[in-house]
Amino acid sequence: MRKLRLLLFVVAGAIVFFSTRLLWEASDDSKNIVLSPETEERISKLQNEVEKLEKDLGISKKQVEDVYAAAEAKNKGKENDDGDEKNLKKESPIKMGNVKFESDDCNFAKSPSGLNSDVQMIDVYNLLSFENVDGGVWKQGFEINYNMDQWKEKPLKIFVVPHSHNDPGWLKTFELYYQAQTRQILNNILNFLNEDSQRKFIWAEISYLDLWWKEQGEAKRNQMKKLIMSHQLEIVTGGWVMNDEANTFYYAMIDQLIEGHEWLQKNIDPSFVTRDGWAIDPFGHSPTMAYILKRMDFDFMLIQRVHYSVKKYLAQKQNFEFQWRQNWDHSSSTDMFCHMMPFYSYDIPHTCGPDPKICCQFDFRRLPGGGMSCPWRIAPVPITDGNVAERASMLVDQYRKKAQLYKTNSLLIPLGDDFRYDVALGAQRQFSNYEALFRHINNNPEMRAKIQWGTLSDYFKSVQEDMAAGSFPKLSGDFYTYADRESHYWSGYYTSRPFYKNFDRTLESTLRSAEILLSFATRESHHQSKASSFPSASLFDLITGARRNLGLFQHHDAVTGTAKAAVVIDYGNKLLSALNGAHNVIKQSAQFLLAKDKSSFLDSLHFEMGDVREFQDSLQESRTIQISESPQAVYFYNSLEQKRNQVVCLQISDFHAIVKCEKMNPIQSQVNLVWTTPNSVSKDKYEICFPVEVAAFGFQVYYLTKDSGDLWKQYTHPSTVSIYKGTTDIQKPAEFDITSQQGSINIKNDFLSASFSKNQGLIEKLVRREKDSVHIGMQFLTYGTTNAKDRSGAYLFLPDGPARAVQEDATSIRLSSGILVESVVAQLPYVTQTTRLIQSSGLDGFSLHLHNRVDIRETHNFELVMRMNSAIQNSNRVFYTDLNGFQIQRRQTLDKLPLQANFYPMPSMAFIQDNSARLTLLSKQPLGFSSLETGYMEVVLDRRLMQDDSRGLGEGVKDNKITASNFLLLLEHSTLPPNPGQQTLPTQYPSLLAHLSQMRLMHSITNLLLRQPSESSLFMPSLSLANSLPCDVHMLNLRLMNNQKTTTSGLLLHRKGYDCRYPLIQRDECSFSRGKILLGKIFHNSIQSIVATSLSLAKEKEEVIGEDRAVHIDPMEINAYKVTW
Ligand SMILES: [Zn+2]
Repeated sequence: MRKLRLLLFVVAGAIVFFSTRLLWEASDDSKNIVLSPETEERISKLQNEVEKLEKDLGISKKQVEDVYAAAEAKNKGKENDDGDEKNLKKESPIKMGNVKFESDDCNFAKSPSGLNSDVQMIDVYNLLSFENVDGGVWKQGFEINYNMDQWKEKPLKIFVVPHSHNDPGWLKTFELYYQAQTRQILNNILNFLNEDSQRKFIWAEISYLDLWWKEQGEAKRNQMKKLIMSHQLEIVTGGWVMNDEANTFYYAMIDQLIEGHEWLQKNIDPSFVTRDGWAIDPFGHSPTMAYILKRMDFDFMLIQRVHYSVKKYLAQKQNFEFQWRQNWDHSSSTDMFCHMMPFYSYDIPHTCGPDPKICCQFDFRRLPGGGMSCPWRIAPVPITDGNVAERASMLVDQYRKKAQLYKTNSLLIPLGDDFRYDVALGAQRQFSNYEALFRHINNNPEMRAKIQWGTLSDYFKSVQEDMAAGSFPKLSGDFYTYADRESHYWSGYYTSRPFYKNFDRTLESTLRSAEILLSFATRESHHQSKASSFPSASLFDLITGARRNLGLFQHHDAVTGTAKAAVVIDYGNKLLSALNGAHNVIKQSAQFLLAKDKSSFLDSLHFEMGDVREFQDSLQESRTIQISESPQAVYFYNSLEQKRNQVVCLQISDFHAIVKCEKMNPIQSQVNLVWTTPNSVSKDKYEICFPVEVAAFGFQVYYLTKDSGDLWKQYTHPSTVSIYKGTTDIQKPAEFDITSQQGSINIKNDFLSASFSKNQGLIEKLVRREKDSVHIGMQFLTYGTTNAKDRSGAYLFLPDGPARAVQEDATSIRLSSGILVESVVAQLPYVTQTTRLIQSSGLDGFSLHLHNRVDIRETHNFELVMRMNSAIQNSNRVFYTDLNGFQIQRRQTLDKLPLQANFYPMPSMAFIQDNSARLTLLSKQPLGFSSLETGYMEVVLDRRLMQDDSRGLGEGVKDNKITASNFLLLLEHSTLPPNPGQQTLPTQYPSLLAHLSQMRLMHSITNLLLRQPSESSLFMPSLSLANSLPCDVHMLNLRLMNNQKTTTSGLLLHRKGYDCRYPLIQRDECSFSRGKILLGKIFHNSIQSIVATSLSLAKEKEEVIGEDRAVHIDPMEINAYKVTW
């Protein structure tokens, strides 16, 4: 052992010596850190030496890695003396060309995970026959028998959990539901729980609790607090809403939970934390939710809407309770205890046991005369002394049968439904009749059951006493696509109301930008010696309103597109008001941060947003910048964590314009005509495109100025237009060429080129760097609706067969080319598609930009899809879609399933791959996706359905709008062989290029215009609010928590997992974290304290100390901190 240590010491010493020398050598030329061949050779020799030593000594890999780490730590210590600038350059292995990845990161993505689970959902899908066999009273299950002996020693512990499911908007708006029902429900809960301390209740939606709270005086509030603190009333999940899990992006999922948890701490108790998740109505379930709740320190969660065949399979194995493990987890740290409800619904007929005909008789809200009845035609009867024995034995028989589906001796019996306990009499009957049953059961030991009111927490505690958490099976994967009966797959809602799904993402990105700016501006205002006039308090109110409206829209009938048309308008108005609120925060914060003199800060607004949205149902539009002799300042704000080089396009009033940089030097730009119809162009609007460079979390000014002479021609280049279809007889300025063309249609930049079909103007071939070409056919197709009784609606997709191609040719095809942007615009029936390639030194130069403008308002039972047919050989029709923008899930098109079952949610990306190439589609908005044939990628763009689909909505989807959808298409070639078992792994990782491009698609660069050009002297031309983060880390949020004397913000950092087989070509710096992030350095060392917290910021953990405030994040993880400045 001593010998080994000595040798290790020698090795470590050698490494330190050599690497220090190498670094010293490299630093001679700090601008170019490409190592000389000689140096590279020495490094490689050194590596060989170490490898040999490792072999000779039989030292484990881990030990050698430790030595490396020690050596590196020593080096870093040395480097730190040199100052920050140089340091960053030395650390980042940049050169033009491929970015060098971190081997740790690569190993993470390479080593298979998700294989050590007992139940892997993709395997279950392969295994199941999906036959819908009649199971008797439990139609989708089987007959259940039991033996009374199992409770001989210990009686069955039954927890009856009263609940009321309150949708924040569905058939009525959020406010109307509150006025009609929810106010009374909360009043009833208060009264009935106060009557008897044995009674319990659970409540989920904080948005409703907030409405109620605002109306109450001190006394009522205190009563509610007391009930919550004494655990008589349990707050479950505690989100603003019970969010949808298919269309939602992880930013908004987490944010609406933070908002709810923050509300609870503010109003109930500062130490209040929520422990149990309750999701009974989202249409399918995502493991991302399990991860988020786990990191929010939840102990347990419950889910309900899962495919009936999957439920039956899990029931047969008593696997309804499991540890839900993330597919990417290499250990067990993400294991989240999950309870799945076994039957068809969460209502009372489907929660007492397998026979709904019997269970319904124990829903005392349905007693005759109460206005509700049982569809099974046997009404409940009130419990009396005369019938209690018979009724109790009937009910307990159902309980015992249900208990057979679970491993422990504890049984959960939810007791509620939609908007239940709204009528005092009904609530009274429910409680008193059950209490009569309880007394009988508990007083008759031969029934071998102990029954009581309970909360979710009471039940889970009992489960824990019965059986150790570790003894439950591990399950990995997700629960899409949900079917509740027959072939009724809920894949329609992945696309329903795509206009608002797109709006949701725009708001998310704008809100994030506003959050970050408000945090920095508030910090700055506190640091000013003179009292500043920055309106922090009013902006805090604005941003709170925006958070809550975004939160409300995450509800499972909002972003899903499954509310009534009138309610959809209400959501739209709330989204618009949130967007305007966030815009206000951005304008005021930017103004304050950029102002040279903050003490004399003016209260009038000097900035306006470059992009505006006028109505809740209108598309976002760019403001037209008036071009005049005095330079118009345009500020670009980059909310992302790395420097951004990209081409931006703005609308201007006059093309005789020159773009100038901060130093007033002209830069090259391209001007384009703005087409108002396929046959006409605007006379007072033009598009100008130019490259910008903006620091991480930074502002950068550019100027636009009129040039009356000829100078502009040197810098500003009008694009030329080729018309392949349509008229060339167009009134336009002489500077722009429009010619008729017959030949092939091609666009290109340095990296890619694309060819288009002559009849439709749609892509046919994508070529990467003149060598790796892939045929990509693009087609628009439509699905009709089946003629059967059950037809497609807001939730369900029930097509009448395979899609039919839209055969018609484009009515107009034009190609516009110039020095920066080349585009093809094809006007087809239902859709205008614009395909762009950008000549850029940034990441926007590596992908094909697709923009659709969809209009199906004149159609009838019609679903429009965009299908790409590529040469990628994705064997077995395996494809990958993301879950909530957070992780990737493997999918497979299966013939045993109906067509609609093979569609999955695509919240932000999807890809198909073979051994050499991967085709990734990045999507700005959530939509339904499938790969029905080898090489196919298919996205449902919009759906118009004339009828209801029998899930309670009572109407079709007929309020279609002109809808935008934005995509990036990436073609990547693997430089390394496929990972072992690639085809069967349950998860994959996007390339780093896909991650970074996705962030840029989601968070378009913000532009702000200065209202008075003459005032630009009042503001700084550029500003960087924080240093850049490594390329694998995303700042999910920097969320202001208070605006008191000190500024505290919740900081959420996400380290991404990425696939190293696909190289990243990057001109900008790209460093890697290896999990270590120096927060002090990022925030210019101005931090007072940093405390690590649970993901919802509700529970403080350890303080982050040390000069650099270094924190560690594992791949895929999201860490949360409270930062006080
Ligand atoms: Zn609901």
